[in-house]
Amino acid sequence: ATPTSIMVGTGKAAETGILFRNGIALQHLREATVIALDKTGTITQGQPQLTDIHIAESFEKTDVLRLVASAESKSEHPVAQAICQYAQQQGAALTDAASFRALPGLGVEATIDGQLVQVGADRYMQQLGLDLSPFAAIVTQLSDAGKTPLYAAIDGTLAATISVSDPVKPSSATAIQALHAMGLRTVMITGDNQRTAQAIARTLGIDDVLAEIMPDGKADAVRQLQDNGSKVAFVGDGINDAPALAQSDVGLAIGTGTDIAIESADVVLMSGDLRNVANAIALSRATLRNIK
Ligand code: ADP
Ligand code: MG
Repeated sequence: ATPTSIMVGTGKAAETGILFRNGIALQHLREATVIALDKTGTITQGQPQLTDIHIAESFEKTDVLRLVASAESKSEHPVAQAICQYAQQQGAALTDAASFRALPGLGVEATIDGQLVQVGADRYMQQLGLDLSPFAAIVTQLSDAGKTPLYAAIDGTLAATISVSDPVKPSSATAIQALHAMGLRTVMITGDNQRTAQAIARTLGIDDVLAEIMPDGKADAVRQLQDNGSKVAFVGDGINDAPALAQSDVGLAIGTGTDIAIESADVVLMSGDLRNVANAIALSRATLRNIK
């Protein structure tokens, strides 16, 4: 490609809110065979809401909610915000944590009013040796509806399951269809649990799911796809997407996402609308066709 044609192409893209940070990205984008996408905040809106709480026998909802929200008030994770917002609406009076620890990709652990409060994913509870079977039926049902089930343990006993729902962006389904129409394979990469991720992928027609990926594992997931001979474009918005953006053949960050994701990307999409991923690829194909 000539420098001029690339300038014209990237200039046109900029007018529609697609910023190419380098000319080579245009060529890499044209060669992409797989589009890998982060789930939370990229495919979904990234603002989960608490939808369901089920309390174990011998626990009280008011108590559990106060302890859980007190622990989560120290976390910056979107699911923590969902829990705290709900607790506030319910008029829960939060207590300051005597100790707090965030366990990335797992959950949080805090001491509240002398009680050990642990909140997080099923794999966290399994690490703690807790039996989750009392909630198995309800959790399966909620996961199949695309909700994310979390669990709370108080002083080492399973006390509740709390589900949050993060709706997909209205444009995501159309965006995925457009990518497929261009002959591309789509893959969702997420830290969320397998069943929930699969339910969301199914509603959008996404080809493959890599779920329960720990925060530092997304780049490895991209590498795996590349080892199979794919040229991978990765789309993400979060702090833990930065290594995957760097590892991919071409990284696309959402402009409303975190600074570190934007800095690691080759292409910045000014809006969160994923149809711009397809538009960027269409443009890369058109630009480089013109100059052949
Ligand atoms: P994602 O961005 O896909 O949510 P993360 O690696 O941030 O991926 O989190 C993976 C999972 O770990 C979440 O879906 C949730 O189950 C659990 N988790 C992480 N942080 C928290 C938290 N503060 N409270 C409860 N669960 C959490
Ligand atoms: Mg994200």
